[in-house]
Amino acid sequence: MSEENLTLAEVHEVADPMRVIQEKLRACMQCGTCTGSCANSFAMDYTPRQLWRMVQLGLTDELFNSKTFSLCSSCYYCTLRCPRGLPLTETIHALKQLAVAKGIAEKKGARFYQTFLDTVRRYGRVREMELMARYFMIMKSPMLPLSFTPLGMRLMIKGKVSPEMPKFFGPGKMDAIFRKVKELEASS
Ligand code: SF4
Ligand code: SF4
Repeated sequence: MSEENLTLAEVHEVADPMRVIQEKLRACMQCGTCTGSCANSFAMDYTPRQLWRMVQLGLTDELFNSKTFSLCSSCYYCTLRCPRGLPLTETIHALKQLAVAKGIAEKKGARFYQTFLDTVRRYGRVREMELMARYFMIMKSPMLPLSFTPLGMRLMIKGKVSPEMPKFFGPGKMDAIFRKVKELEASS
């Protein structure tokens, strides 16, 4: 299959996935509609519009170390409103996969994504308090919770974080689906 026909879910199969992602975002005209539509952009270090510009310029270090990935809630609002019809949410997913698969992301990024997936596996959705509690335990860094405190406070004030307390035990509601995906991946 030629690279231009690849979907963003398939970019990790080619030698230079960033080139394919750059091509998908080539038509971005930096209008900022995506940033204006993103409910989480106030907390991001780079807004969605800035993220696409970094992709276009190939600034991978800044890109993969940005907090923007972890703050994207995959609501698809930016994708729906982009006047150029660009696949923005899928691009974030592809960048996340790339960061983990290639080890480009710093370790804490990969650990954050894994913790995110673990909470989705357990509940079928993210429970923010548990996500962060698990992440802090894995990272074993006493200063890390402090660095997230201002962001956590802002999210709580805006009602973006559920106050549900963590429950660390019990089977995952999505275990069967995750197991099936692993089987399919192993047999493909
Ligand atoms: S809305 Fe679309 S064209 Fe506008 S900045 Fe965002 S990605 Fe680029
Ligand atoms: S999909 Fe992510 S980046 Fe796009 S509007 Fe939603 S939270 Fe923001």
